[in-house]
Amino acid sequence: MLKINKDSILTKIKCCVTILLDSILSKRRGIKMNNIVIVKNLKKSYDTKKAVDGINFVVNKGEILGLLGPNGAGKSTIINILATILTPDNGEITILGHDLKKEGKMVKLGIGIVPQDLAIYEEITAEQNVSFFAGLYKLKGKQLKDHAKEALELVGLYDKKDDKPKTFSGGMKRRLNIACAIAHNPKLIIMDEPTVGIDPQSRNHILESIKILKNRGATVIYSTHYMEEVEEISDRIIIMDEGKIIAEGTKEELKQKVNDEVTYSFHLNNIRKLSKDQFTGIDGVTKVNITENEASITMEKSKDNLNEIISSIIEKGCKIENMSSVETSLETVFLELTGKKLRD
Ligand code: ADP
Repeated sequence: MLKINKDSILTKIKCCVTILLDSILSKRRGIKMNNIVIVKNLKKSYDTKKAVDGINFVVNKGEILGLLGPNGAGKSTIINILATILTPDNGEITILGHDLKKEGKMVKLGIGIVPQDLAIYEEITAEQNVSFFAGLYKLKGKQLKDHAKEALELVGLYDKKDDKPKTFSGGMKRRLNIACAIAHNPKLIIMDEPTVGIDPQSRNHILESIKILKNRGATVIYSTHYMEEVEEISDRIIIMDEGKIIAEGTKEELKQKVNDEVTYSFHLNNIRKLSKDQFTGIDGVTKVNITENEASITMEKSKDNLNEIISSIIEKGCKIENMSSVETSLETVFLELTGKKLRD
């Protein structure tokens, strides 16, 4: 005979009612359901320092938004405001259809925050840590246990569930920090530089966990000053500097903002036989640099005439010993837009 679980039916009904109410309220306020976060003219200063200086952006449902910028750009200030930890000086913020100022409590229920500084208890087990934080969201009994298990599995720490964090490496503690923030299945997860100073294995694990969370339907805001991470996981990227957004788009769109070029470097014997002039006539070549043992030729990607370059080298009687290519990176984008390196 078919067994009916009353609790799970009640949970599903509650879920449907919440979605329906969310949808009705959002429609009334004219908010598109696709916008999980809407930020308008956000400003925050510390004394005279403008940490966030009139910022506007949206976060779309189901995307991973990378917030990229050097130290001091204003990323943590934005995240702390979204997390309701800091009060802005100015601006309107809507999260999950709720006005942050008026309905902060509703916002808190729907989000998961992974703070930059660890927020875990060293003296209780990993599982007790996750259960404690998930319990704050009114999860109880079997449901709480299941959620804690799922979160610990996601970050690869379920086999360490009975160990205390004081015995963990820095990377494991960061993974536990994430498990604590997501065990209540938040719709929006906000992470502030979660990979700073950890080993590559934990870092990869964290990035993979974020992709899984996205595949399960979560929306993620991910702040970092590591451009490789943003390139790897983000659907869209906001680049910040000195409290302002300086560029926004997919990584392909951002790279197109700067000259879309590729540089080929050749290690050659008989390099003396080469001259700059032989390359400058090739369509698309924008820069040529020849040193004692290396020739670097930069060209527009759309006119990629690599064959002609190679033919021209061989015709002069040179032998190519090694060749490499460097494409535009987000580092280049940042450098071009600000005149500074991301990691200055
Ligand atoms: P990011 O997270 O990108 O490193 P922050 O938001 O932490 O940037 O900082 C932005 C700017 O605000 C920096 O110049 C920083 O020194 C300053 N700032 C941040 N927090 C405070 C604070 N509590 N008091 C004074 N200045 C602060």
